[in-house]
Amino acid sequence: MKKIIVIGSGFAGLSAASFMAKAGWKTIVLEKHITPGGRARQLKGEDFRFDMGPSWYWMPDVYERYFNAFGKKVSDYYTLKRLDPSYRVVWPKNENNSGKSQIASNITGSDLLQDHETDIPADLEELKKIFEQWEPGAGGKLDAFLAEARIKYETGMQNLVYKPGLSLKEYADKDTLSKILRLDIFTSLKKHIRKYFKHPRIRQLLEFPGLFLGALPKDTPALYSLMNYADMIGGTWYPDGGMYSVVLGMYSLAQELGVEFYFEMEVTGFRIKEDNIKSVFCNSFTFEADLVINSADYNFVEQKLLPEKFRMYTSAYWEKRKMAPSCLVYYIGIDKKLKKAIHHTLFFDSSFDRHAKEIYKTKSWPDEPLFYVSVTSVTDRSVAPEGYENLFFLVPVAAGLTGDTEEMREKYFDRILERFEKHIGEKIKSSIVFKDSFAYSDFVEEYNSFKGNAYGLANTLLQTAVFKPSCKSSKINNLYFTGQLTVPGPGVPPCLISGEVVAGVANSEHLNHQP
Ligand SMILES: Cc1cc2nc3c(=O)[nH]c(=O)nc-3n(C[C@H](O)[C@H](O)[C@H](O)COP(=O)(O)OP(=O)(O)OC[C@H]3O[C@@H](n4cnc5c(N)ncnc54)[C@H](O)[C@@H]3O)c2cc1C
Repeated sequence: MKKIIVIGSGFAGLSAASFMAKAGWKTIVLEKHITPGGRARQLKGEDFRFDMGPSWYWMPDVYERYFNAFGKKVSDYYTLKRLDPSYRVVWPKNENNSGKSQIASNITGSDLLQDHETDIPADLEELKKIFEQWEPGAGGKLDAFLAEARIKYETGMQNLVYKPGLSLKEYADKDTLSKILRLDIFTSLKKHIRKYFKHPRIRQLLEFPGLFLGALPKDTPALYSLMNYADMIGGTWYPDGGMYSVVLGMYSLAQELGVEFYFEMEVTGFRIKEDNIKSVFCNSFTFEADLVINSADYNFVEQKLLPEKFRMYTSAYWEKRKMAPSCLVYYIGIDKKLKKAIHHTLFFDSSFDRHAKEIYKTKSWPDEPLFYVSVTSVTDRSVAPEGYENLFFLVPVAAGLTGDTEEMREKYFDRILERFEKHIGEKIKSSIVFKDSFAYSDFVEEYNSFKGNAYGLANTLLQTAVFKPSCKSSKINNLYFTGQLTVPGPGVPPCLISGEVVAGVANSEHLNHQP
């Protein structure tokens, strides 16, 4: 039986390994850490459990399709619950209704919006009522906006994301070409949203899902309004036990398919002969391989582990890539229940433009950053002791931003905690019984992450599909790449897709060598 080595056991590695095992390969996964999951590992401490990375479960259809590919269902592995409200947005205090200025200190009296937070309902009709209050007519416009977003979502899923992006010809079929003009590839998401809506809250709300894609709305193709469809129609879900339940489900499935896992195995190099990897070096072990799929950081493996003549890209190429942000994350356990907290809260109560500039232009530590808080214990009692709460805070910062010392982490924690405490109307600092954090230097240290990136490459037009780092090596015949730095991009659903796509290419090209 021919043997494949998959490097890394994040979502993309688990997916690729399972598809290869299903196709009949002897599949071995080598993982640096002691557990699977990569960025979605679980942190345990003082009877609290935290998802270390992803916390938003969107696009449930992609997860379902993944398990269906193996004759299984999501419900065979974990239970899903739709969140309602989907999430809360906290707005600035001095925000007006005009749509001209989002945050202006000289706005007073009746101009000021009186409510400072909005719970986004799962029900679309309820959401339309909120839009109507902000901007008369916006409810109807939302239907039209989402009808377009639906076409993009369906076309994206059926005609684009499951393609390996090795050649433009992949997109030249009649069906894709007939739909391509409706995808608004050359318009920005920002312009597209402004075509429909005037109110700053609506605009910001519709721009938010695009931020998952790691670029500014002005640099993100309007195609990605498909994310608004995912948000408002697909819904926000929670897997019982947290996102780590998805990891465990995929890990169990992989084992059922016969995949073998070796943990605490950091790949350090390869033996390459006649343009083929013959073996993979790992600590003091050597694993023979007929094929290799790398799901660890693309840049790291390509630039640090491969000899120069086998690299497809130069360091200058990598330096020019536009990275999605890195982030500063805090895992906090408190010994009381919070009265006002909900599962997901977005703090849009400071200037988006200023924070965006600090992330993408000046690449500096932010002054008053936007941030996000997840309190999974309000939905799931299993993640914190009875009467306690677990909180996850995330502050996006520029990729490659060094200086995340203990002092710096403390400084930002104090700042966002103060804003959070004001919002919920109670003090929590003295109730903290567990605290940990994760930042740039941890991304580099733990995941060999290029520039400490958290979510891979920004999804700009010039970093989409054929313009992404290739999923197949052009220098080594039996080396492939999967994960958030290649097609289709960052995020859990794209990583499930990435594993499937790459396994498909590897299989089709090596079918003759199959057992
Ligand atoms: C804080 C944070 C929040 C996020 N929030 C969301 C969200 O809410 N929803 C969403 O959909 N997505 C979210 N994402 C993005 C999503 O988590 C990632 O895109 C996805 O998990 C990446 O999976 P991957 O398999 O490509 O990479 P990884 O998860 O990084 O997996 C790569 C694996 O390779 C291993 N490895 C590295 N080097 C070696 C080596 N030399 N030898 C062996 N193994 C090695 C690593 O240990 C790791 O296990 C978030 C990410 C972060 C960091």
